[in-house]
Amino acid sequence: MFNNNTYKYSNFICFDAELTNSNFTQKSTPWEMALQQLKKAADLLNLEEDIREILSHPQREVQVSLPVRMDNGKIKVFIGYRVQHNNARGPYKGGIRYHPNVSLDEVRALAMWMTWKTAVLDLPLGGAKGGIVCDPKTLSQGEIERLTRRYAYAISGIIGPYEDVPAPDVYTGPQHMAWIMDTYSILKGHLEPGVITGKPVEVGGSLGRNDSTSRGVAIVVAEAARKLNINIKGATVAIQGFGNVGSNAAIIMAKEYGMKVVAVSDSKGGIYNKNGLNVDKVLAEKEKSGTVTTYKDAEKITNDELLTLDVDVLVPAALEQVITKDNAEKIKAKIIGEGANGPTTPEADEILYQKGTMVIPDILANSGGVTVSYFEWVQNLERLQWPLEQVNKMLEQKMVKAFNDVYEASKKYKTDMRTAALTVAVSRVSQAIKLRGIWP
Ligand code: NAD
Repeated sequence: MFNNNTYKYSNFICFDAELTNSNFTQKSTPWEMALQQLKKAADLLNLEEDIREILSHPQREVQVSLPVRMDNGKIKVFIGYRVQHNNARGPYKGGIRYHPNVSLDEVRALAMWMTWKTAVLDLPLGGAKGGIVCDPKTLSQGEIERLTRRYAYAISGIIGPYEDVPAPDVYTGPQHMAWIMDTYSILKGHLEPGVITGKPVEVGGSLGRNDSTSRGVAIVVAEAARKLNINIKGATVAIQGFGNVGSNAAIIMAKEYGMKVVAVSDSKGGIYNKNGLNVDKVLAEKEKSGTVTTYKDAEKITNDELLTLDVDVLVPAALEQVITKDNAEKIKAKIIGEGANGPTTPEADEILYQKGTMVIPDILANSGGVTVSYFEWVQNLERLQWPLEQVNKMLEQKMVKAFNDVYEASKKYKTDMRTAALTVAVSRVSQAIKLRGIWP
């Protein structure tokens, strides 16, 4: 159960960030950027005008007004959205975000972005996104529950296990998903766990979802190392951010892949030990003191210094836009696995590509979460619960295949991995649209 007072606003970082992986300027709105991204991939693919036209329009956009009885007895009306971009490959899929800055423009862009993300992973799903304009920090748990249930009711006609399957996003988590499932199930008259993913395990959530994003990062980094003839066992790695993604990546990389985690950081700063950090002890220290910087057996470094350490692998797993034109030239890592959304600016991307650094883009590197969401949906439809080993094994198969698809595309189109990932995605969705045809 979440505690409203412990909401972590550091998650804001994934806001616009999800779209900063486009090679375009920050000045555009998210939707403009998403369209520019699409154009870039479509140009490389020589895509027909008709398909471009279809992909440039979300299939459905819904705005709902949500009256909620506040704790003071008054009614407050919140605005919510659900944008369904494309379902040519399967039911719409995408998270629900609670934030004061949620706008239709942003939700629309994030929905298109989800279409590409599910397609890169070759999941039989489409792309959607939802959001409510609200500041969850100022709401009580009761108000959040009433708001969430009202939103679930308002969009209940357009979601469903075979229509549109939402999930958590910024400031929503397992508890919100449980409320949405419950509200939808009551309306339908039977339990329908497959209407939403990211649920608590007790009510149909999947094992392995907690660290799935980090596991996905580790898997694609190992693949990249193989391509670059770097021995993953003993390869050095620096990880920026020690939250959900960063700390789990450190544990998985050290314990399961035998990598040497030499540096980690959080918002207070970083720590470095060239002989390798004891990740269990660092985690214990973070739990005890709230920061990794009090860990004794390491020297202190800044977050900026961490990025330019002499390591084989760099995993940005905190903020957006930390790798910029100012530090890209100094980056020594041969592989960058983007755990965070949008950590690399377009200018830095170009510099790194010229230098021969392999940047595994966010749309691919951090998609382990949505992949296990897909597994959760499949388990719900089958009324099964897979053992953890099965979830992790299938995650690995999906991520390895996706990495190699994108890698091949980067060779074919002589482009960076980020652009290659988009071409793979746009091409798959376009083929589905063409094969299915337009009716009526
Ligand atoms: P989190 O809030 O659990 O952790 C964020 C970490 O970043 C914390 O350790 C925090 O101390 C650190 N941090 C904050 N400011 C920093 C700074 N200035 N310098 C260095 N570190 C700083 O968040 P998370 O869930 O681990 O997400 C991290 C990134 O990964 C975000 O970009 C998020 O959008 C992305 N992502 C997460 C998931 C997921 O499943 N959690 C999935 C896809 C993408």
